[in-house]
Amino acid sequence: MKSIVIGEYGGLDRLHFTRSQMPRAGDNEVIVKVKACGVNHLDIWIRKGARPCKGFPHIMGSEISGFVAEPRGAFKEGDRVAVFPWLYCGRCINCANGNENLCVKPGTIGRTTNGGYAEFASVPLQNLARLPDNVSCTDAAAVILAGTTALRMIRKAGVKKGDTVLVLAAGSGVGSSAVQLCRISGANVIAAAGSDEKLERARAIGAEHAINYTEGSMKEKVMDLTGGDGADAVIEQVGKDTWQDSLSCLKTGGTIVTCGATSGSSVGLDILDIFSRQLRIIGSSSGMMADMKDVLDHVANGAFKPLVSKTFPLEKAADAHRLMESRNFFGKIILLPH
Ligand SMILES: [Zn+2]
Repeated sequence: MKSIVIGEYGGLDRLHFTRSQMPRAGDNEVIVKVKACGVNHLDIWIRKGARPCKGFPHIMGSEISGFVAEPRGAFKEGDRVAVFPWLYCGRCINCANGNENLCVKPGTIGRTTNGGYAEFASVPLQNLARLPDNVSCTDAAAVILAGTTALRMIRKAGVKKGDTVLVLAAGSGVGSSAVQLCRISGANVIAAAGSDEKLERARAIGAEHAINYTEGSMKEKVMDLTGGDGADAVIEQVGKDTWQDSLSCLKTGGTIVTCGATSGSSVGLDILDIFSRQLRIIGSSSGMMADMKDVLDHVANGAFKPLVSKTFPLEKAADAHRLMESRNFFGKIILLPH
């Protein structure tokens, strides 16, 4: 099959378009004919060695949708599916309790196993979800990781109708998903981003207010917009550069959920502020199958609009990585192996 294989860590020239052996489905696995695979920052980190992969040769790609290539379980050949990006054992106490996002033996398709930069991928049967008829594979690949991550954060924060939620990095995959999913929950969104162009786009997908966190005090702006109360919840992923400001934007009893630290992960923390204002700090990573299915349903009924920046044929994976590293895009970059 055609695939993009890396044999060692490094630059764009490590992405080899080549023919490799068809994957074989192990027990409880299924072969998926990959129609679309999202490109994620994780892929860049893997290629460069900042996040180790399972070993070489390696095929990355965590955001897969396509067709079932051979019947397995309740799925028949040709069924359209989205692949849940995170591996879970299905047997540990957390999995048994329905919290597969807390699995004690976690993994990620495309990092700890071969992924979707190929015509075919072998994935666990338990990771498959049927695609609603009117959701394209490209749109599915665009939302299954970022949308699922964002929905888990919103649910952990307990966001409800009428809440005000501050969403940082609103131009990112998780951020733009959070803006849309908060609106679907009936919350009001204050989007924050570092450029006016991204803020304009955040408004276009439903943010009531948009503020540039590189200009002036984010706290003052949020307090102005909330009548001095502050936000019920903050969706954080910037880290060091914004963490203190993000905390200060919360109302008493408010909740901050973090899933990333793009500007650095070491932040000062004044616990006096945490206990006296009774703030909740929640970490989040990945999501649950149920979240992914709900996200796909929101896409199917038109409430959630997948944002696709550009698609590339598989052999142009280096161009896709180059675009991602340029940061000069809005929405998902998608590879189309078939
Ligand atoms: Zn488990």
